Amino acid sequence: MPNKTKKKGRVFSGARPTGRQHLGNYLGAIKNYVAFQEEYDCIYCIVDYHALTTVDTTENLRQNTYEMALDFLAAGIRPEEAIMFVQSHVPEVAELHLLLSMVTPLGKLTDLPTFKEQVRQHPHNVNYGLVGYPVLMAADILLYKADTVPVGIDQEPHIEFAREAVRSFNHRYNTSVLVEPQMRVTEFPKVIGIDGQQKMSKSLNNHIELASTPEETRARVMQMVTDPARIRRSDPGNPDICNVFTFHKIYSSAEDVAMVNVECRRAGIGCVECKQLIARNLNQSLEPFRLRRSEIDKDPDNVWGALRQGRDRAKAIAMQTMAEVKEAIGLPPSDA
Ligand code: SF4
Repeated sequence: MPNKTKKKGRVFSGARPTGRQHLGNYLGAIKNYVAFQEEYDCIYCIVDYHALTTVDTTENLRQNTYEMALDFLAAGIRPEEAIMFVQSHVPEVAELHLLLSMVTPLGKLTDLPTFKEQVRQHPHNVNYGLVGYPVLMAADILLYKADTVPVGIDQEPHIEFAREAVRSFNHRYNTSVLVEPQMRVTEFPKVIGIDGQQKMSKSLNNHIELASTPEETRARVMQMVTDPARIRRSDPGNPDICNVFTFHKIYSSAEDVAMVNVECRRAGIGCVECKQLIARNLNQSLEPFRLRRSEIDKDPDNVWGALRQGRDRAKAIAMQTMAEVKEAIGLPPSDA
């Protein structure tokens, strides 16, 4: 049932279609997406246009979009509550991107630290879209008049850019049609992958997918890197520097956490046993998600239908904003 209580404002968040989501995606973003639904009108956009700035192939774009939306639904995004849709299904965003680009000094884009980082990462593909990425991101937010954008602190320059774009546009056309979004700095916990070193990521293949089977999950957990100083079973370990213990703190009961904390330090528990325990607890915790996921997946239209529903609701807002924007600019009406 839709939540009818008065909401605090409108949240917008975009995520690239990366297919099946992993624990890092869930703990870092999806969990917040689900929680925000209670307090805000939420718009969650699968940003396929953005993905085109860096992808090598579009072969899996459709399937990745499906899998991601399926994971969102199974995790608790309610399509009758939040607007969940695909960016390219509402092409008005490309039009607003164009209009915002006319009030954007090029130097401002090429000076952004995030652009410099992208050039470093993709030196052979510094395309026009990559330069204009923050303009498209601003268009995403402004098209839907979102007032709240939950982002990590590293995204601050992009939100500040969007705010400046609003000021430039409104000043240039002497209007107040666009609304400055506020950044809601959100704690996105950095989940370390099974290598125990780097942030969990598909490209590093150090991830655990939410939709994996219990056996697959267990196999991944058994590969987890532990305290490197603990070579033999009889060596005492240090849970404070072990990623397996971090997972225990998220997924295990207080009793299990306390037991591992004590027994690891006096070699009372071995790493194999400790991993078997976290695998069991993790699987137990993921079980309801997996059941919902396979239920929704029985009919792909459950997913595409939710995205269509989101598209229609997003489109209605986008068309209204674009009518206001064009009038503010003074573009001749098409039906004059
Ligand atoms: S017993 Fe557990 S917490 Fe201790 S080092 Fe091994 S895996 Fe890590």
